[in-house]
Amino acid sequence: MNISLRKTALLLVALASAWEARGENLTRFAFEKAEMGLPFHITLYAADETVARQSADAAFERIAQLNGVLSDYDSGSELSRLSLSSGQGKAVPVSPDLWRVLECSQALAEKTDGAFDVTVGPLVNTWRRARRKQELPGAELLAEMRSRVGFKNMRLDAALHTVELLKPEMRLDLGAIAKGYAVDEALSVLRRRGIPIALVGGSGDMAAGDPPPDQPGWRIEVAALDLPGAPAAQILFLKNRAIATSGDVFQRLEIGGVRYSHIVDPHTGLGLTDHSLVTIVASNCITADSLATAVSVLGPDRGLKLIEETPDAAAHLVRKPAEKIEFLESSRWKRE
Ligand code: ADP
Ligand code: MG
Repeated sequence: MNISLRKTALLLVALASAWEARGENLTRFAFEKAEMGLPFHITLYAADETVARQSADAAFERIAQLNGVLSDYDSGSELSRLSLSSGQGKAVPVSPDLWRVLECSQALAEKTDGAFDVTVGPLVNTWRRARRKQELPGAELLAEMRSRVGFKNMRLDAALHTVELLKPEMRLDLGAIAKGYAVDEALSVLRRRGIPIALVGGSGDMAAGDPPPDQPGWRIEVAALDLPGAPAAQILFLKNRAIATSGDVFQRLEIGGVRYSHIVDPHTGLGLTDHSLVTIVASNCITADSLATAVSVLGPDRGLKLIEETPDAAAHLVRKPAEKIEFLESSRWKRE
């Protein structure tokens, strides 16, 4: 007992000195670049500027490459080409990146009974147009769009890595998961290049690697809701964890005094109106990003149940369904 305790202490001392040696000559560098139509940030610790810059460039390059695979805006992306195959009775082979994201999407769709559903494209596009025109979509149009949506109409073949879209005019939209995956992949690029101390962010979704020298983690501020009486911003220290936020605080459409979120409930075809902000911490950003949207759609009861069932995930929710503001958190949130 005594021996093993002493061994542990020694190991800790050894780790601490290795840490110091590494921390001593590392410098902090920060980079920003627009990718996927959004600002991406990379903060990292490296020995010199050339190494730092080359590594950040490689990470940004990976994000740009993923945009060419996962974007629904770019009509030439692999995702858009897959969407065009819908209803033709074709199982299309997909790249490892697209496979990974679609597999993860379908698993979450199953778990949430379709509250999270990347086949939601026709509805999201309808609401995007509504936002532009400042006009609510009619019932007939919504019914038509809803008929093209449904994760059960997307068939993945795990042996062949092919995807078949069973109905005509289906449109995939990875807006709730692609950013998280891109952030994870950028962090992996840095780690493979010998830069483990890094933080990658894509407009609010972040993946943290090893902590900065002498820090318990990367200091992250969880934004406050833009409502009177909402709680102040919260500070978290994250290492080898990811965080994502989802909600209609920054993007919304207001028609006739009602605010519709850009997140759509696939079952009703409507943009969410309960005005919430969901923050998720998870072991990687693809999980945090997608869960944030899933919990937004599921609402607090089913949403928090999903978080409790997901290993290592924690959630913080602010909602204002009516006059009263609600604050909720999952059991693991305090630990973060
Ligand atoms: P943010 O835009 O702040 O990252 P989210 O991560 O929640 O917010 O992503 C919202 C996006 O997810 C929408 O713009 C749309 O592309 C997509 N989306 C909307 N509703 C759903 C849904 N029910 N399931 C999956 N994806 C959705
Ligand atoms: Mg998100």
